[in-house]
Order: sequence, then structure tokens, then C-alpha cells
Amino acid sequence: MLKEHATLVLERLENAGFEAYFVGGCVRDWLLGRPVHDIDICTNARPEEVMTLFPEHVPTGVKHGTVSVKQGPYLFEVTTYRLEAEYESYRRPTEVKFVSDLESDLARRDFTINAMALSREGRLVDPFYGQKDLNDRLIRAVGEAQSRFREDALRPLRGARFAAQLQFSIETRTKQAIQETAPLLKHIAVERIRGELHKLIDSDHPQVGFAVLEHTRLLSAYPLLEETFARASSEAWRLPQLGSSLLKWSLLCYAASRNEEQVREFTALLRMSKREREAIHRYAQLLLSLQPQWDRPQPIDWAPLLLTHGWDTCMGLDMLLQAVWWKNRDRSVSQCLIDTYAALPVKSTKDLAVSGKDLMQAFSRQAGSWIGDLLAYLLEQTALHGLPNRREDLLEAAMKELERHEY
Ligand code: ATP
Ligand code: MG
Repeated sequence: MLKEHATLVLERLENAGFEAYFVGGCVRDWLLGRPVHDIDICTNARPEEVMTLFPEHVPTGVKHGTVSVKQGPYLFEVTTYRLEAEYESYRRPTEVKFVSDLESDLARRDFTINAMALSREGRLVDPFYGQKDLNDRLIRAVGEAQSRFREDALRPLRGARFAAQLQFSIETRTKQAIQETAPLLKHIAVERIRGELHKLIDSDHPQVGFAVLEHTRLLSAYPLLEETFARASSEAWRLPQLGSSLLKWSLLCYAASRNEEQVREFTALLRMSKREREAIHRYAQLLLSLQPQWDRPQPIDWAPLLLTHGWDTCMGLDMLLQAVWWKNRDRSVSQCLIDTYAALPVKSTKDLAVSGKDLMQAFSRQAGSWIGDLLAYLLEQTALHGLPNRREDLLEAAMKELERHEY
């Protein structure tokens, strides 16, 4: 469906007298038989011409030649053939130059496997022998690798990421250029670095990417990143066992033996969102407290963890534990989590027969942290120690607890 709709876009451009091709990642992934989620199109039509031909469009990046056109339910990026003439301080340029031939457009692309175009009738335009490199499973820079990496210092990291996604090797000279230009990564915005590292740890073969990072010292401009990836390298193969990237980052931190403070530094350096940071800190801390051993399952006392962290976090923790124990993973621990949860007479403070408001009224006290502490105490007593979940019993237990401790 996706490709049929994209073909209609090519057709409309061609019928108006322009050239148009599928280009880049989609061509690579079609040739590899990998799933294609988005299709990029290149053309010799100028952005204004594209916008006229497709009234339903979004001017995504007209300055860079890109217009997103709507075709059926899809949006396709249509980009005018261009050069990236002047590069500034190792970043991609702010200005581009439009050109009239496809080959120049392919020449500005990063790797040979990403520098192929495909016509509507299936003719492959492959001036840099990308198809051969696909067959040989090689990542090779288009043109002279070192100068291409000096133009844009994110490219080496993209190379490591593609190696991890495709389980490819990096061609020797390209690899050497990665090594030589690694220090330039410090000129690249952290958000772009995070994006590539994210794709790398989320890939099918992260260990391949970790090995590239290690051998080329690609992350040497960021010692904390370099050290974390290097220390976790031997366990990187476990990452694909995890379903979410939050769990993957958490396992990475545990595998690198990062303590709580180092985990905080790591997520702050990568400028992760508050939600991501909090989740990763929580899981990393849980792993640090349990200290699970690689491939050696241990029993887990789920009840107190469920009461403190809730079901969702414990489910995530169980997935992390199974990845840590992968070679001898123990489903009985997961079953125990399910059984323990089912057997809990109360599962959260919301299930208690008294609320925070009831406690304030009963003891004529102002709101404060004592309420949360007292509710947590009552939850533990009802869930684990047989205190009946009845208003009178809870208030009586609360009274005794208040007398026993200064809240
Ligand atoms: P995916 O979308 O699966 O991550 P992709 O190859 O489509 O992979 P994109 O980042 O979407 O990667 O870029 C689309 C195309 O644009 C690439 O295939 C490549 O031809 C070109 N490209 C992207 N980033 C760069 C870059 N930094 N330098 C040179 N060319 C690039
Ligand atoms: Mg893409």
C-alpha cells in the first residue's frame, strides 16, 4: 500500500515532465528484503513546483528542498536534487544548492548503501556500487571517507548504527576514517547523538555496533558515554530480548556497573526527557538493589516490590531480570510475580478502606508527608500482615503507629 501510494507521487511528477525516484533508506531496505516504514522521493522539480503539483502538502523544509506531500493516508518527503555545498564546523549545512542531476544528489549521501535510487519501473541508479556493498555486507562512505566525515561528524555514528541494524562490517578505509575523525563528534548536538545511539541499542545486533564504537573509539569525545558503552559491551547481545528502549538503557547502565549517580550523569548528558530519566533511574536502582547475576536466576520477593512500585514497574523489572538471566531464564519468577499480585488482598493505597482525607479528619492534623507514610504503612500491614481492610481496624492501627513514631 505504502509503495503503491509513493508510486502515484512519482507518476504525477513524471507526467508533469520531471524526473522522480525512490531514494536512500527505502531502496536499501527493499533490496535487503527488510520492512520499509517510510519512503523518500527525490526529484529535479524545485520545491515551488512540487508544491504547485501537490496542493495537499506540508512545507517541511523548503529551504533544504523538502516538501512533504500527501498521497492517500500517507505523507512522503519529496526532496529536490541538491548539493550540500559549504559545511560549517563539522555540521550539516544551513544552506543547500539545488542541482539538476540525480548523480550529484546521490554523491552527497553518506554511505554507498544509502546512495541508490530506484525508478518507478524498477531501474536501479547505483553510481557508487551500493548494491555490491549490500551483497558484501559492507558500510562504505561515498567518496573519500575522511573528508565526508569532516563535512558532517555525525556520519561515523550513523555508520556504527547501520552496522548494528544490518549486521554489516565497516569497510577498512571507512573504519580508519571513523577512528581519525572521532574527536569531531564533540561538535555535534547531543540530541542527534542520542538519536543514533538510541537506534543502535534498539537494533537487532547491538553488539556489532558496540564493537565498532570500541574499536574506533568513536565516543572518545564523551568519556562517560565511551566508558558506559565499553563496559556494557560484553552484555550488549542481551538488549534485543527487551521490548522497550527504556528497559534497554536501564540494562546498559546495569551492565556497565554504573552507580546511581553515574546513571543520573549519563541520562543528563544525553539530555533525555524527564519521563525517560525517571524510568531509567528507577529500573537501574532496582537492579542495583537486587544485584542479579548474569545467567544465574534467583528467587525474588515480589510482594514488597509490588506494594512500593506497582504492577507496571515490576513487569518491566521482570523483563530486565529475564534478560540478565537469559541463558538460564526462569519463567517461574515471572509466574511468581503474577501469582503474588493476584494474591495481594490490597494492591495499592487506593484500595484501602481509608483515604488520606479520612486520616486528616480522624487525627485533626494538617496535610503533610505523614499521610503518604502512614498510608504506605497501612498498605503493608493489610497486604502482608493480615490487618483487615476495614475502616475501624485501619484507623486503630494508624493511631498506634502515630503514637509509636513521630510522623
Ligand atoms: P532509517 O530511516 O531507517 O533510519 P535512512 O537511511 O532512511 O535510515 P535517514 O536518516 O532517514 O536514514 O536519511 C535518509 C537518507 O538521507 C539516507 O539514506 C542518506 O541517503 C541521506 N542522509 C541522511 N543523513 C545523512 C547525513 N548525515 N549525511 C549524508 N547523507 C545523509
Ligand atoms: Mg529514513
